[in-house]
Amino acid sequence: MSGPKPLAVTGAVLDGTTVGLRCEGGRIAALGPEVVPEPGDETIKAGGAPLVAPLVNGHTHAAMTLFRGYGGDLPLMRWLRERIWPVEARLEPDDVYWGTRLACAEMIRTGTTRFWDMYWHPGASARAVRDAGIRATIGGPLFDVEGGTEAMKETALRSLEELADVGGEIDASLAPHSIYTVSEGLLRWVAELAVEREVPVQIHLSETEDEVSECLDRRDVRPAVYLDRLGLLGERTVLAHGVWLDESELELIAERGCTVVANPAANMKLAVGGVLPYPAACRAGVRVGLGTDGAGSNDSLDLLADLKLFALSQRHAARDATVIPAREAWSIATGGVELRPGGVADFLLLRAGAYELGVGELYSDLVYAASGSVVDATVVGGRVLMRGGEVPGLEEVVARAAERARRLGIG
Ligand SMILES: [Zn+2]
Repeated sequence: MSGPKPLAVTGAVLDGTTVGLRCEGGRIAALGPEVVPEPGDETIKAGGAPLVAPLVNGHTHAAMTLFRGYGGDLPLMRWLRERIWPVEARLEPDDVYWGTRLACAEMIRTGTTRFWDMYWHPGASARAVRDAGIRATIGGPLFDVEGGTEAMKETALRSLEELADVGGEIDASLAPHSIYTVSEGLLRWVAELAVEREVPVQIHLSETEDEVSECLDRRDVRPAVYLDRLGLLGERTVLAHGVWLDESELELIAERGCTVVANPAANMKLAVGGVLPYPAACRAGVRVGLGTDGAGSNDSLDLLADLKLFALSQRHAARDATVIPAREAWSIATGGVELRPGGVADFLLLRAGAYELGVGELYSDLVYAASGSVVDATVVGGRVLMRGGEVPGLEEVVARAAERARRLGIG
C-alpha cells in the first residue's frame, strides 16, 4: 500500500507564530510561516488552532478498557485475585483486539499517538494498533512464579516473531511482569535475549512498599539493584511506577540510562501511598515519562488529565510549587519530541478558540486547565485519524468492545 497523499495544514499557531506545515511520506517536509499547500495536497485549514506535538503514554495495558470499573472499589490484591485474573484466564485474541481498538480510539480522541503496552495476546493488540493507525511498543507479559518457565520462554520468542510480522508502526518488546511474579532465571534470560535481539524491556518496578520489603527480605537488596544484578537495567529498559525508589536506586537507574514512567492516577486509585520521587529522579538525571496504566485501574486513558494529576501530586508531595514548571511537564508527556522538518508527521491541532486555552499561557493551560477534549485533530505519519473531535468508526468499536465484555461476563 502506498503512503497517504501529501497533507498540508494552513493557519496553525506554533508557539505564537502562524505557520503552515506539509507532510510527505510520513514525515514533516516543511514547517514555517512561509509554507503553503502544493497542488494535489489534502489540506486542513486550521483557522488559528494551536499546533503541538502529540502525547506518549509510557505504560498501559490497552485491552483493559474491557474491565473499566470492574471491581474498581476493591483493594489491589483482591481486585487482581477476585476480578481481574479469573476473567483474564478466559480472554481470547478477539477480546484483546476490540479492547485495544477501544483504547486506541480513546487515545486518538485525547491526543496520544504512541504508547507502551503490556498485555495478553500481544499479536491481537498489535493488529488493533495497526488497524487504528497509531504507534505502540508491545510486549506480552511474562509470569512464572508458579512454574512454566520453559513455556514462557517459548511464548516470548513466538510473540517477538508475531509482532515483527504484523506490520504497521509496531515495535516488539519483552515484558516480564515484575520482580515478584517472574523468577530470577527467567529475568536473566530476558536480559540476555533483549541484548541479543536489541529489543526494549518493560517491567513494573517498585509500585508498592511491600514489593520493596519483600525484595529486601528475599534478596537482601532493593528492587533496582536486584534488576541490575540480573543485567536488566539498560538504555532500552522502561520501568513502570518507581514510587518507592530511593536515591541510590535513582542514581543507578540514571547511570544505566533507563526510563522511569510515572502512573499517578493508577497509583492514587490503588492507594499505593506515594508518588514517584520526581525531584530526586531529576537530581539523579533519570529520564521520566508518564503513563496511564490500564483502564482497569485508572480508569481513563486521557493522558492530559493525568498530566495535571502528575504535576499536582508532585508539588503536593514536595510541598514546593516550583516543582515541575508547565513546560517541563508538557515535555514529559510528549516524550520531549518537538515538531521539526524531517521528523515524523505526528501532531495535534487543538480546538481553535477553546475556552480552556484562549487566555493564558498555552503550556500552563494545557497542563492545568485542559483535558484531552481540547484535541481537535490527531495526525499520525501524515494520516488524519481524527478531525473536528470525531474519530471515524468509533460507534462500531464501542459496540464490539461492549459485546466482548459481555461475553466475558462483565457489564
Ligand atoms: Zn501496569
